[in-house]
Amino acid sequence: MAKKEIILFENETLRKVSHKVEKFNLRLWLLLRDMADTMYEAEGVGLAAPQIGILRRVVVIDVDDENGLIELINPEIIHVEGEQAGPEGCLSKPGRQGFVRRPNKVTVRAQDRHGKWFELTGEGLLARAFCHEIDHLDGKLYIDVEDHEILPEDEEEA
Ligand code: ZN
Repeated sequence: MAKKEIILFENETLRKVSHKVEKFNLRLWLLLRDMADTMYEAEGVGLAAPQIGILRRVVVIDVDDENGLIELINPEIIHVEGEQAGPEGCLSKPGRQGFVRRPNKVTVRAQDRHGKWFELTGEGLLARAFCHEIDHLDGKLYIDVEDHEILPEDEEEA
């Protein structure tokens, strides 16, 4: 167990662009382990490396579906479809949620912990997590794309 401290929105590190991972070595695997431990301890569904102060393009996600723990290294979104409007929170802003429109179906291309490229498509919450966590790698937060005009009816339709 190696839980790390999650930094908060006020920390300017979250506004920086993360660096591409070049080496798929023990150091990366220890980072992945720490990130998963930290995410599960905080009961989140996703965590990006900058949230523990590491500016590397690494994401972990677990939305409690058949995929289990997903590790994304150098991820990029290659296809989006549809739209969902719903509440979204962030482990770097405990106790708050905002309404955010996201694509309903998202395909990512990423490397695994050994550097092998793969593609994965997610719908609903997983699609939302892909967008949210990959935004973190570019210094973007959900409050940047929050939609204050979403009405309660939209929430029910999402
Ligand atoms: Zn977040």
